[in-house]
Amino acid sequence: MEWLLELEEEFDQEIIHQKETYVKKMSQDYYWYSPILKKTLANRYGDCVISPRTEEELIEVVSFACKRKIPIVSRGGGTGNYGQIIPLKGGIVLDTSKLKKEIEIKDGTATFQAGAKLGFIEKTLRAKDQELRFFPSTYMKSTLAGFIAGGTGGIGSIEHGTLWDEGNVLELTVITMEEKPRRLKVKKQEELAQYIHSYGISGIITEATIATAKKTNWHDVLVYFDSLDEALLFSEKLAISTHLKKRLVSVCEAPLSNFFTPLKSFTNDSQATILLQIDSKQKQDLLQLIVESGGMSDDTFAAFIKEKHLRVSDFSWNHVTLWWLKEHEDDTYLQGRFDPTCYLAQVHEIKRRFGDEVLIHFEWIKVKGQIVPSSQPVIRYSTDNRLQEIIDGFREIGIKVSNPHTYILEEGGKDDWIDDICTAKKENDPYSLLNPGKTKRVSTKQFS
Ligand SMILES: Cc1cc2nc3c(=O)[nH]c(=O)nc-3n(C[C@H](O)[C@H](O)[C@H](O)COP(=O)(O)OP(=O)(O)OC[C@H]3O[C@@H](n4cnc5c(N)ncnc54)[C@H](O)[C@@H]3O)c2cc1C
Repeated sequence: MEWLLELEEEFDQEIIHQKETYVKKMSQDYYWYSPILKKTLANRYGDCVISPRTEEELIEVVSFACKRKIPIVSRGGGTGNYGQIIPLKGGIVLDTSKLKKEIEIKDGTATFQAGAKLGFIEKTLRAKDQELRFFPSTYMKSTLAGFIAGGTGGIGSIEHGTLWDEGNVLELTVITMEEKPRRLKVKKQEELAQYIHSYGISGIITEATIATAKKTNWHDVLVYFDSLDEALLFSEKLAISTHLKKRLVSVCEAPLSNFFTPLKSFTNDSQATILLQIDSKQKQDLLQLIVESGGMSDDTFAAFIKEKHLRVSDFSWNHVTLWWLKEHEDDTYLQGRFDPTCYLAQVHEIKRRFGDEVLIHFEWIKVKGQIVPSSQPVIRYSTDNRLQEIIDGFREIGIKVSNPHTYILEEGGKDDWIDDICTAKKENDPYSLLNPGKTKRVSTKQFS
């Protein structure tokens, strides 16, 4: 390809990667969680990977690509689940991992470059008596901008909500995909929403300022109940408690937790489990609530986690699915938000219709101030049609499904924001070169 030769002439070799195996690896995320995406997205790769070392270098790459109408897909840690970083039209995989500097930490806010890993940010913040408000369970690998442009929420969302909740993402620096790229400073809530969970189609984030929380010493607890109902009712009580401060309330139907291999000595295949992180000052209050609710816990769990250098995040959110897939590689999962006013009845109806084809996994989170049960149930996959029947079944009984089996943004349940994202896209990416093919609202026919 001629542009690859020009690229070599214009840029330092150090930032250009063309080795086929490397380009293929960097063109992929965890899309294989979905048997449907596994089929549709196999063998889609970029033509090269470019890893700019500075924002100035990134801007030069963007200008180079725009002048030649070469697509760009921004890449953070590559931990997305929906083929978000998979280039559908080839082009450049823009690896942001070298843009990882701390810009500024103030009391209550932190600004880092796009490619800073969330694990690094958390460590840096904790040394300054602060912490991330919330983070995905992949935080050791995933980047600040990758989370903002590809994620939703995570550990801490029970207290602080999700990326869309006002006051969590405060400012973004965005580079436009134009011959002369503009450097935008985005601060207003309605404008920030044009870049949140946008798959990078509306601009390239180079810096982000997020709100932080005051550091808490978290205590890890595993609670067991003989029945799923008891576990769910206990988890709800804890989730809505304004007295107990928590970072995680994660519920797994049996036998999901029995596949958390490193925790084998704490799990079994018959009890429902709840993984919790609570303020260590409130251990006794929690214990009392566990006893009152008929649950059991093992007080050696926290010490075990620490001693083995494990993290509760490794066993919550979409890591629950990952542990299951390690032993059931053909299975998959769904994402759905149950109705907090009748979630138990919805669970019963799901179990009545689908039995053990659906294994319940809840993460309690806050959305616009309301505590709600979001869920990532494991699905025992058999066929695409059956998977669709299960999705339809969820929707019929009022569970809001965010379909993880599509790479099209608006089909994944993020239809509320897609018009705003596309408004920014039209202004910032006039040739539709950023991550083309990830929305149906903007034509990409010049590349097909
Ligand atoms: C085991 C597992 C557990 C997970 N748990 C969670 C969870 O708890 N919560 C959650 O929300 N998600 C979760 N995810 C999904 C994913 O890990 C997160 O969304 C993560 O934050 C993505 O970050 P990343 O750096 O890996 O992004 P990538 O996968 O690299 O990119 C994600 C999207 O952001 C875009 N992007 C990346 N960098 C930029 C940039 N600089 N400018 C513009 N766009 C950019 C990419 O093009 C892509 O569309 C999980 C996934 C797995 C596999």
